[in-house]
Amino acid sequence: MILGCLIAMNVFPVVKSRDLLFESKCSSMLNQASLYASSLSSLNVLQPGEVDKVMALLDDQRLSRVIVTNREKRIVYDNTDLRSDSVGALASEQEVALALAGNNVFYSQLKAGAVSSRASIPVLSRGSIIGAVFLYEYDTAQAALIDSLRRNLLRISMVTAVFALLVGLLLGYLISRRTRSILTGIRGIGAGRYDTRISDNGVDELGEISSEVNILADRLQQIEGVRQRFVSDASHELKTPLAAITLLSDSIVQNDGMDKATVREFVYDIGREAERLARVTQQLQELTKLDSKARELREDVDLGRVAAEAMKMLQTLAVQKDVTLSSTLAEKCVVHANPDDLHQIIFNLVENAIKYNVTGGRVNLLLFQRENTVQLVVDDTGEGVPPEKLGSIFDRFYRVDESRSGEQSGSGLGLSIVYDAVRKYGGTVEASNRREGGMRFQVSFPAAAEKKRK
Ligand code: ADP
Repeated sequence: MILGCLIAMNVFPVVKSRDLLFESKCSSMLNQASLYASSLSSLNVLQPGEVDKVMALLDDQRLSRVIVTNREKRIVYDNTDLRSDSVGALASEQEVALALAGNNVFYSQLKAGAVSSRASIPVLSRGSIIGAVFLYEYDTAQAALIDSLRRNLLRISMVTAVFALLVGLLLGYLISRRTRSILTGIRGIGAGRYDTRISDNGVDELGEISSEVNILADRLQQIEGVRQRFVSDASHELKTPLAAITLLSDSIVQNDGMDKATVREFVYDIGREAERLARVTQQLQELTKLDSKARELREDVDLGRVAAEAMKMLQTLAVQKDVTLSSTLAEKCVVHANPDDLHQIIFNLVENAIKYNVTGGRVNLLLFQRENTVQLVVDDTGEGVPPEKLGSIFDRFYRVDESRSGEQSGSGLGLSIVYDAVRKYGGTVEASNRREGGMRFQVSFPAAAEKKRK
């Protein structure tokens, strides 16, 4: 691009000024020639003596060569020193022949450091051509001007080209060095080295790309940490019941004389462990579903309706555990979310409140809206959780007291599902022990936009 501009900068002004010079030469020389021609037209026949007299009055400065010919193309006047030789001779210039044929002729060229111009026009007397005037000019001053313009432009172009080349090379070097470091960083992250960071403090687009890649790497590192912990926790959780099953079945196989009652007991335990395995895998599935495409679909959901359904489903469990369920559900508590996620939240909280309750205990569910938040409170009359352990109950696979919880069916994933689901919709969940005994789980969601407007 720069080269193109420089070439245009060199060619265009020179060509333009040369054309302007030719144009001005053309008009001035043709004007001069027509002045001579009109003065000579008073003569009937062009003859050396008479023409000399007329030309002596007009051609006093002798700036250009002037030749006057008669109709037969013979020179009758020539203002150069060669005049004595040329007068009477035939004019050889092509322009003279063209002028005698009735044309105004001009020709100019810039060559060998000079502008040489020729102009010729016919001399008319009473409507007929009686001769021709021919002018010739050899101008070195104007040519030198154009030449110096050309040389100056060339010098400026050379300096510009060298400067542009140096700046281009420097910029290219700097950009490619930074790009290479960004690429190395990206390749490192792509190869699984999530602790790789790009050190580029630029404030331009490359700097922005670097900081975005670093943010991405932070996120990947975080996700990778969570994934590794999750896989190790999950495999540990699956390994424990599997080890128990293997141990129990080995004992049965290796003890030929085992009595029927013990075998039954062992098989019953195997069944319990298998159930536990099934529960863990089902909960794990539930966790992954939270991020699935299907759960991305959101709608305005009446939380009261979802809560009533969940309570109905848990009624059988409540009867089994001798726990009384009650609820106070305000109308039109609308949350913009996926209904399945909301169901999962309420179901897990109420199921826990029943599971970890005492015989003859109570569970109360309260739903209401305060300003722009929808609040859900699950109270129970169980044993609660020791205060120092309250901070961990939302962790994956965490169970407060394995020996105590062990009596209850659970995987330690229920509350972490609740936590993830609530956070997904910008809500919060808090657990606390009630003064009067038992636990309180308090969930708050931002109310759906439509509700806010009312
Ligand atoms: P689990 O499958 O074991 O119920 P959760 O993640 O749902 O797993 O709960 C984690 C632990 O928190 C439980 O094992 C239990 O010890 C405790 N917990 C949860 N809800 C209650 C509750 N309402 N009352 C007392 N303890 C509870």
